[in-house]
Parts: sequence; C-alpha cells; structure tokens
Amino acid sequence: MSGVVVNNLIKKYNNDVTALNHVNIDIKEGEFFALLGPSGCGKTTTMRCIAGFETPTSGEIFINGQVVNHVPANKRNCGMVFQSYALFPHYNVFENVAYGLTIRDFYQGGFGTKVSSFARLLSRRLAKPPKHIVNKVSEALDYVELGHLAERGTSELSGGQQQRVALARALVMEPSVLLMDEPLSNLDKKLRNTMRTTIRRIQQDVGITTIFVTHDQEEAMSMADRVAVMKDGEIIQNATPTELYSHPVNPFVADFVGSSNLFQGTIVERTTTGSVIQIDGFVLRSGFSKEANDMNVLIRPEGMNVYHKDTEINHVNIIEGKVLMHTYLGPNIRYDVKVGAHEVGIEKIYVPGERVLTNGEDVKVTVDPERVLLI
Ligand code: ATP
Repeated sequence: MSGVVVNNLIKKYNNDVTALNHVNIDIKEGEFFALLGPSGCGKTTTMRCIAGFETPTSGEIFINGQVVNHVPANKRNCGMVFQSYALFPHYNVFENVAYGLTIRDFYQGGFGTKVSSFARLLSRRLAKPPKHIVNKVSEALDYVELGHLAERGTSELSGGQQQRVALARALVMEPSVLLMDEPLSNLDKKLRNTMRTTIRRIQQDVGITTIFVTHDQEEAMSMADRVAVMKDGEIIQNATPTELYSHPVNPFVADFVGSSNLFQGTIVERTTTGSVIQIDGFVLRSGFSKEANDMNVLIRPEGMNVYHKDTEINHVNIIEGKVLMHTYLGPNIRYDVKVGAHEVGIEKIYVPGERVLTNGEDVKVTVDPERVLLI
C-alpha cells in the first residue's frame, strides 16, 4: 500500500501565480511514474507538495492510503534525490549514506544531549558505526555499485558517482516513496543513458514507488511505467509511454513526446475501416475516424516510407514528393520531403547496400492507414 494519490491539487503562490490547477494523479505501489513537461509547468511544485516542502492551496495528498496534508515532511517517509546531489562535502561516501540512519538511531534511542556536543557525538558515531548501520549502508552501496569507494571523499567522485551516492543515501532509509527531481540533468549524455538503466534496475529490484521529474521526453519515456505530461499547471495526458506516443491527445503532447508531422485535415469520407482525409495538397486514408470533420493529423517519421518515383508500388496511400535533404542518423536515414504544401520528416532504417535517395530526387511516399492518427 505504498501508492501516492493526488486529489484535485491547487497551488497558488502569493495568491497570484497558479502553479498547479486541479492536478489529479494516482500512482500505484511499485510504479515508476514520470512528471514530464516544459520549464515552469509545475512538475517540481507537484513533487514538493507530495514531499511536504510546499503546502497546497487546496486538494488532498495520500501516501499509503493516508492523507498526509498535515504530516510534516520528515514524517512522510519520502526519499529525495535532487539534480544538485546535495551531498555533505565533509563526510566520505560511507558517512553520507550512514548519516540518516545514524540520526534516526539517536532519536529512537532517546538522545538528549546538548546541541554543542551533538556534532561531536555524530562524527564519532559515523566514524565507528554500529553493525546494523554498517550492514545497511554496505547493502545500499552495493546496489549502486559503489562499495569499493566507501572511504572516498565526495569531492573525489565523478558526477555520476555522486548521484549514485545520493541515490544510496535515499534508499538506505527504506522510504515508502522515492522522489527524484531532474536527477540526471547535470550529467553528460552518455552518463545519463547509463544512469537511466542503473536507476530503473534498482527501482525494479527494490520495487519502490518512484516519482521522477524531468523535462526530457526520452528520459521519461525510456524509464517510466507511466508518464504525466504537464503544461501550465495541468496534466494534459497521463498514460503509458506507448499510449502517449501512439495516441497523444493533442498536438502539444504529440510534439513534446517524440518528433511528429502534424497537418490540418478534413474528413471527406467515412468508410467501414476508417476515413478519407483531405490535407492541403494530398489525400490520405486513415484507419481511424472522428465525429468532427476538422482535426489534426499526426504521422510519426517512422510511420512513412519513401521510394524512388519509378519504383512499382501497390499501396492505399501513395503521395508524390521531392527529397529536400537526407541526413544520416546512425542506424537510420532521415529524409525531409516536400509533399503537397508541406515538408515531412521520414525516418527509414538504413539497409547496407540500399541506394540512398539524393536531394532533389522525385519520390513516392507511402503511409499505412494505421499510422495516420487523428487527434
Ligand atoms: P522547471 O523545469 O523549470 O524546474 P517546473 O515544471 O518544475 O519547472 P515549477 O518549479 O513547479 O515548474 O513552477 C511552476 C510555476 O510556479 C512557475 O510559473 C514558477 O515560476 C512558479 N513558482 C515556483 N515556485 C515559486 C515560488 N516560490 N514563488 C512564486 N512562484 C513560484
């Protein structure tokens, strides 16, 4: 029962800025949930309200089925990992991870010394920790594969290693919920990719309910079980990565999640299998239909194919076009093609030996009706 529910959350700063406008979220136990959206959309505010660092203007937050609106942050049993790592520079790796457990031991043991001697006592205890703390810290460091660096100072670690210490420090407290706010943003691209896998592996091993804030769609889509796309303080769509990609609810989500070719279209015929759509300069059959006549038509770049104009093709959707540019993207080739009044991006897997279409070449573009999405 370690799920998180956010019910009709509103947060206004200074009675002026509406940072959150009726936010509803239902995160299941063990789920990896990403809050995704552009800068200022309210991701961090949502997370800070869940953690207890911000007081909502109205609405309810439940953790483990209990309302926590009036529970202070340190009693909500949430582990936090920040973009900035926030490690203690004067403690080594082991001490950073042992810190929270040591403090908890003091309080559970009815610690009642003067503040002046607290720091001395804490340092002594961190330097000579009891066995149960050593065991827990070692286990947490093993999870993040840093056991061999336990004695090292945090300033002697790479960014990725520092972030793994921060993760171990959060996990060692065995929180109900792990909250991560842009934890990978300070890392270079290669390290970010490695850390995505590390975090996902650990999250699945531990089975901890996790909320992950990011503005990077690739990060959210590759890590999360479910993603909430936010804009202007509201959740626009909350779905699995596959649903978001294949059935975005509006052009904003379509554009934010993956690259897209978007057109204005009008249904000119409804068929038993979908519809026929007039787009400026060409007509397409879609496997879908809508009640409204006018809508946005979305085709993902990998949903189209492109051939030299003399190639014999039998297909329900063939559009004539001209290659404007071709770009090698490693395993794929991207073609920018002029069709009708539009330019479309098409990504094709590069097959060695295949002739690459050149700029200026006349081509035929095909698209399966199931790839012509109406939003
Ligand atoms: P980013 O990705 O840039 O961190 P975000 O999606 O996390 O953005 P928030 O930090 O939650 O966005 O901010 C949401 C809105 O609330 C923004 O308009 C922001 O300017 C405003 N805001 C955030 N904190 C405060 C504050 N303490 N006082 C006033 N306005 C604030």
